[in-house]
Amino acid sequence: EQNGDLTNLDPSVKVVVRIRPINGQEKEVDRTVTKVSSDSLSVGGRKFTFDSVLDANSSQENVFQLIGVPLVKNALAGYNTSVLSYGQTGSGKTYTMWGPPSAMVEDPSPASHQGIVPRIFQMLFSEIQREQENSDGRQTNYQCRCSFLEIYNEQIGDLLDPTQRNLEIKDDPKNGLYVENLTEEYVSSYEDVTQVLIKGLSSRKVGATTVNSKSSRSHIVFTFFIESWCKGASSKCFSSSKTSRISLIDLAGLDRNKLEDVGRQHLQEGKNVKKSLSQLGYLVNTLAKETQPEKPEDVPYGGSCLTRILRESLGGNAKLTVMCNISADNRNTSEILSTLRFGQRVK
Ligand code: ADP
Ligand code: MG
Repeated sequence: EQNGDLTNLDPSVKVVVRIRPINGQEKEVDRTVTKVSSDSLSVGGRKFTFDSVLDANSSQENVFQLIGVPLVKNALAGYNTSVLSYGQTGSGKTYTMWGPPSAMVEDPSPASHQGIVPRIFQMLFSEIQREQENSDGRQTNYQCRCSFLEIYNEQIGDLLDPTQRNLEIKDDPKNGLYVENLTEEYVSSYEDVTQVLIKGLSSRKVGATTVNSKSSRSHIVFTFFIESWCKGASSKCFSSSKTSRISLIDLAGLDRNKLEDVGRQHLQEGKNVKKSLSQLGYLVNTLAKETQPEKPEDVPYGGSCLTRILRESLGGNAKLTVMCNISADNRNTSEILSTLRFGQRVK
């Protein structure tokens, strides 16, 4: 029942690397990272190849065209789709996903700093509207809702209701794993989604993104559900109702755990981040293999809150893009290599 057109040519897991521009303080430092071609880069003379490499001149619009446009097409064709934004603190994960909050309410223009997430929903709602205007008698109805959560120190918090700080994951025999009591907002326009995004992002611990800030040690997951069914009285029509989800994940920073940098109280949090990122790598690596484990229970979802929460998004017939963000400053060589290794491992 899924469209067999070009969207199907998309591999199930894609890895894209984005190199962020160096900033004022980094200018003097020798650069060791260079883009070699549209899909490869070299770090200190070693070459790495991915599905695509975007250099420091790439715009938010370029990233959207590469990742967002196919995502929207796949989502409307019924696939579950996800983007994971991975990298060390300061590498551009948040910028790439959401962009600055001030840009969120702008109309997306090619030059805007707006991230891929608001651009995705601008396109999604205009595609839905276009489809409804051009329908030839057979109209599809859509109902969309979304949730926004944060995983901090293996505790799940509700970004749309910050009073809910320790939610539990439950297993429903019919719908699978879900977060109990998590707020869901119904949305029917791009403006509705941007309001939810702004609300959720402002609940994430505010403040500068430094290795010490809480936001560098939390994962945030925005989930958007699209339920669609065709309008009409026939029961055949009704049975084709389907739900797909778009999951947009801004991961905690992959940072070195230096005791003197983070302080003793943050060590446990750092360990949880490290553990959940490595279990995520293991999970995505399993999903990217051509042959999947025979038994679904052999797919390693169980390890951490993050991998369990992503089970319904990544399992089955799903499409995932892993966005590896790096900064081209050679003081970060070990984090750059570690980020690229994560990207290689999941292919
Ligand atoms: P992270 O979320 O990985 O910690 P941020 O997205 O907060 O990193 O980026 C760190 C800083 O670099 C921010 O000030 C952000 O605006 C800036 N930045 C990141 N990527 C880019 C880019 N591609 N172009 C311009 N500025 C960027
Ligand atoms: Mg960030």
